[in-house]
Amino acid sequence: MPRPEYPLKVYADLQATSFAEARDCLLAMATAGHLSILEDDASTLTIQSDHGTMGLSASDDGTVTAVATAEDDRWMFIVKNAIVVQLKKQFPEVTENMRWSDAGQGPVLPPTFTLVTVREVYPVGSAFLRVVLEGDDFAAYGRESIHFRLVQPPKGKDPAWPFLAPIGSVKWPEGEEAPHKPVYTARSIDHAAGTLVTDIFLHEGGQTIEWAREVMSGDRSRANIGIMGPLGGGLLEAQNVLLAADETGMPAAARMLENLPQGVTGTLFLESGEGAGCDYPLNVPDGITVKWLARNEGDSLEQAMIKAMATPFEADVWFAGERGQAARVRDFAKNAGWDPKELRISGFWKAPDNP
Ligand SMILES: Cc1cc2nc3c(=O)[nH]c(=O)nc-3n(C[C@H](O)[C@H](O)[C@H](O)COP(=O)(O)OP(=O)(O)OC[C@H]3O[C@@H](n4cnc5c(N)ncnc54)[C@H](O)[C@@H]3O)c2cc1C
Repeated sequence: MPRPEYPLKVYADLQATSFAEARDCLLAMATAGHLSILEDDASTLTIQSDHGTMGLSASDDGTVTAVATAEDDRWMFIVKNAIVVQLKKQFPEVTENMRWSDAGQGPVLPPTFTLVTVREVYPVGSAFLRVVLEGDDFAAYGRESIHFRLVQPPKGKDPAWPFLAPIGSVKWPEGEEAPHKPVYTARSIDHAAGTLVTDIFLHEGGQTIEWAREVMSGDRSRANIGIMGPLGGGLLEAQNVLLAADETGMPAAARMLENLPQGVTGTLFLESGEGAGCDYPLNVPDGITVKWLARNEGDSLEQAMIKAMATPFEADVWFAGERGQAARVRDFAKNAGWDPKELRISGFWKAPDNP
């Protein structure tokens, strides 16, 4: 595989570790993530990751240096973090003193953090509030990654934001300043207007709903928040799909539907309390059949998927729902003989009674 050249390159010396040990540690990550090895010899290791490389080099005096290259600041942050997280598993004492060559002198916001202001909040259907956020740059929330953390500082406090430590990892405010930061989906982005739309499901006891309702009622003191991302998976490319979502996955499903290729076929199961009555707006391609399930009438997303997946067929599978349900659907699919590469089955939330 030819070695791509990336514009950014940074280094961090690893004290008190041998090249061989650090190499084994990073190679384990490459194997687990099916990443390509670009170079592997007595003094150099280079692993290809998305939009950058992770590696090691050993100099004649025995110094071992971690090396990261990347396309831009955002990806550099992700590549550096991947190296640190992996090394930390085996050499916690080594990573404590690591300092990347691009580390700033004072606290800086992580490149994956964007300050945003709420432009408006309004109901969508009977089960969601739509929050329109304004910010400088939402380009990262394209096809490959559509999720983010909605970073809400505690009520009544001056906001404290995360910052980048010299090691390249993010330090979150702690104690009374710790923000609430659940994961949401970029339902749509308008680059010209500088807005990102996210839809928040109205479930019992949700802190984010309380926050959104306060801003909707005119309390602008909490209208300045942050988003951290992108995170998680992106859009699907497949010609035949089997999709399933409860309310938490509906914004992602809606965005996927709008970006599937021409002529796509398949089925989408959607579960909400009252089924189709939740009126969540969707633009459905002609070849996709939508089957609404009403939880209040005993329907279950998990059971619908298990029935639909009894015998494997050619399709990309995507499931977003409660974590326990996701685990059971994943186990069922594997036992039924589905190819794990075609499965994207995720828990989007955790029921309180689920350990
Ligand atoms: C990749 C990803 C994308 C997501 N996208 C979206 C999205 O676009 N829109 C969206 O609404 N959610 C989305 N979620 C789910 C969301 O992150 C969780 O529901 C989260 O707990 C909401 O935080 P909160 O502040 O409302 O509730 P919290 O204050 O975190 O939790 C309060 C209580 O609510 C319960 N709870 C959380 N979710 C639900 C639920 N769905 N039904 C019933 N009880 C619940 C919790 O168990 C807890 O007891 C996504 C999650 C992931 C992982």
